[in-house]
Amino acid sequence: MNSPITPDTSADASGWDVEKSAQLYGINNWGSNYFSVSPSGEVQVTVKFGEKTASVSLMEIIDGMRARGLEMPAVLRVRNLLDDRIDTLNTAFARAIEAVDYKNVYRGVFPIKVNQQCHVIEEIADYGQRFHHGFEAGSKAELIIALSHLKDHQSLVVCNGYKDAEFIELGLYARQMGIQCFFVLESLSELKTIISVSQQLDIKPLIGVRIRSSVEVDGHWSSDSGDRSIFGISTTDLLEVVNMLRNEDMLECLQLLHCHLGSQIPNIRNVRFGVLEACRFYAGLVQEGAPMGYLDLGGGLAVDYEGARASTTHSMNYNIDEYCANICESIIETLDPLDISHPVIVSESGRATVAYSSMLLFNVLDVRHSVPPAVREEDLPKDSCEMLRNLFEVNQNFDPERYQECFNDALFYRDEVRELFYHGQASLRERALAESLHESVLQKVNQLIPSLRRVPPELENLPDQLSDIYYGNFSLFQSLPDIWAIDQLFPIMPVHRLTEEPSRKATIADLTCDCDGKIDSFSTPDGNSHTLQLHPVRDGEDYFLGVFLVGAYQETLGDLHNLFGDTNVVNVSVNEDGTFDFVREFQGDSIADVLSYVEYEPKQMREQFRQVAEAAVRSGKINVAQRQKILRAFYDSMYGYTYFEHI
Ligand SMILES: *Cc1c(COP(=O)(O)O)cnc(C)c1O
Repeated sequence: MNSPITPDTSADASGWDVEKSAQLYGINNWGSNYFSVSPSGEVQVTVKFGEKTASVSLMEIIDGMRARGLEMPAVLRVRNLLDDRIDTLNTAFARAIEAVDYKNVYRGVFPIKVNQQCHVIEEIADYGQRFHHGFEAGSKAELIIALSHLKDHQSLVVCNGYKDAEFIELGLYARQMGIQCFFVLESLSELKTIISVSQQLDIKPLIGVRIRSSVEVDGHWSSDSGDRSIFGISTTDLLEVVNMLRNEDMLECLQLLHCHLGSQIPNIRNVRFGVLEACRFYAGLVQEGAPMGYLDLGGGLAVDYEGARASTTHSMNYNIDEYCANICESIIETLDPLDISHPVIVSESGRATVAYSSMLLFNVLDVRHSVPPAVREEDLPKDSCEMLRNLFEVNQNFDPERYQECFNDALFYRDEVRELFYHGQASLRERALAESLHESVLQKVNQLIPSLRRVPPELENLPDQLSDIYYGNFSLFQSLPDIWAIDQLFPIMPVHRLTEEPSRKATIADLTCDCDGKIDSFSTPDGNSHTLQLHPVRDGEDYFLGVFLVGAYQETLGDLHNLFGDTNVVNVSVNEDGTFDFVREFQGDSIADVLSYVEYEPKQMREQFRQVAEAAVRSGKINVAQRQKILRAFYDSMYGYTYFEHI
């Protein structure tokens, strides 16, 4: 339990204040009223309680975590935010339904693949019950999760993906028990299995068909739709489905039409066209004699990671109310003239449901400044080569009027010194001095850039090239895999010190020694940037950054690159009085855990290492007391966190 923070509206000496920080990092654009900067300069999370709200500072939560032995990096999940998203989605549909007098209901299903973590699923099942929010399963494992968590029989279970006889049998037993479990057909061969298994068991299935939409959506997932999509049934095969079912006297089972255009649809026009086309298919199937009743519009409801409210890949040009209104209106527009009654609207919104509720928190371990040490004349070796002396002169006599000449000369002389070094004619010390002097000239040129009327092309990248590198205690591959895989942009910012001006420009590197383990693309209110403005790290003080909106897809897609394992995770719940509870804590993987994932036997490894140590004792390299100390260090590492630890 913690007490609410006390406001402190002090600005720092430079005239910087929290409003400027909020503006710089765009938090009020992407934060969706969940995240903001507190008066004391910390990121706070705000949750609603009816008309009232309560806010908690992330630094308070970090302090509470560390006091409980949960070190950085850590994933923080805020339970209230997950609940609020489920609420928002369901009430937005309810409002749209009422506004346009739509004559049926909305039933959401959560696509389990978007976040399969048990406690996320439990929360969605618990909280979603009041809205009959169900699950979408794309595999047998996910169906097992759905069936064991579903709380009421008005909720739906929608099964996508390829299904074998075992999968189908399980789904049919769910039917038998009264669960509304739909099989969405991916292919004709699957239909044959469904027909034969259901006839054997004498259980009537609920069947849906996934159409192949011809609408090509904008953004990253454009290949999920369109004629070349690997998903969905072709129009010809759709009619074959109708024929086969009719022949088996099972056409009454065909009740759902499924259309998933892809994830993160940035443009509302795509949604509208997709729904209109889906309605035509729906109407066609009704005209073929199928009873229908459910229209499942899949996922795709976007998250505005950039807060730009634009139809760009990481943003969206609509809000959730417009999304719902567009869907209801498009259905009415198409089906009313045909006198077809309104279907139950189903959506499989995953990203929009879970993205907000998780964030990654990590500390900065080290900073590489590109501030070269000053080189004085007496630092040059007496017999130093002429090229180095010339370079020294260029730096010494830097002339802003002739900055381009200085820039070119410095580059030339530095390369000459490197050439000499290569041939053994310049020493290591000379090479180091040449590099420092070259960089010093670059810094001087860089300082001129803001005042230039036209920046020459060769200097355009200079500010990025000279930015700092902040080394973060995390693995991109484990915790933010989409940054690596699909150039995803997530909002990233310091979670404290926001009363101070962030005077450094930096890219962020992770702990892996992989050149892809870096973040050098950031969204800012002024457009995309290769660097992020950060505060100078103070000696002996931690500096914490947060990566936000990471609740969708990141946790399970992450991998064990360099054997960095799962991070610590905490789930908190914010109370109405501004206090919060740690409702769940999970220790991340130990080194022994990750080693066993790749088939090592930690016990056996200890034994092997013991033998190495014992041999060293026998040969007199160490004594027994030293052996014990070494074995203890080995043991502590083995059962410790895979990330950087302060000891
Ligand atoms: C991935 C997926 C979803 C979830 O999409 P979001 O964009 O996260 O809402 C829904 N349905 C299907 C079939 C999917 O493959």
